[in-house]
Amino acid sequence: MVNIILFGAPGCGKGTQAARLAQHYDLYHISTGEVIRSEIKRGTELGKSMEGYISRGELAPDSIVVEMVRDYMLSHNDKGCIFDGFPRTTAQAEIFDKMLAEAGSKVDVMIYMDVPEEELVKRILLRGKESGRADDASEEVIRNRIEVYRAQTAIVADYYTHQGKYSEINGLGTMDEVFDRLTSVIDARR
Ligand code: ADP
Repeated sequence: MVNIILFGAPGCGKGTQAARLAQHYDLYHISTGEVIRSEIKRGTELGKSMEGYISRGELAPDSIVVEMVRDYMLSHNDKGCIFDGFPRTTAQAEIFDKMLAEAGSKVDVMIYMDVPEEELVKRILLRGKESGRADDASEEVIRNRIEVYRAQTAIVADYYTHQGKYSEINGLGTMDEVFDRLTSVIDARR
């Protein structure tokens, strides 16, 4: 059983690589951003409560996101998981640790995918044209998401560094090159 956190700024390629890694290692893949977008699409109360945050490029409240992950873990506990976009604050990381410990599990590794800001903005604007994601269409919202990442999320790396679980890779290059760097880190840790 292995639990992997893919970490990095919006647009660094977490989603694409997480899906591929999940298939390669036969793990579940949870993207909290995807779960939130699906709640919004289905028009649930939970979705409605999060719509404003997402459209402004802010983070959804920790308590809501943590409960979403808890729910997911209850029905997906027979093998490990790739966490994509979670935890995004130190508070989320602390609760997550407790949640996993209660289930007799733990985080094995956090991998940071390093991509420069101008490349992030370029990638997200391109993705916005195809995905139709509203938060990918406006450069202002994208810059705000990157700012929120710097102000609230980047520090989560320190949390896992203290636990000796942090690794980083260069997120530039072809999808295959990045995938190979990720599997090298994971294979060395397993
Ligand atoms: P990206 O990382 O490219 O911005 P995501 O799909 O991971 O895309 O997230 C989209 C949005 O969903 C974020 O901007 C944020 O508003 C919300 N979100 C996703 N995960 C979390 C989380 N763990 N905590 C708070 N908000 C989140």
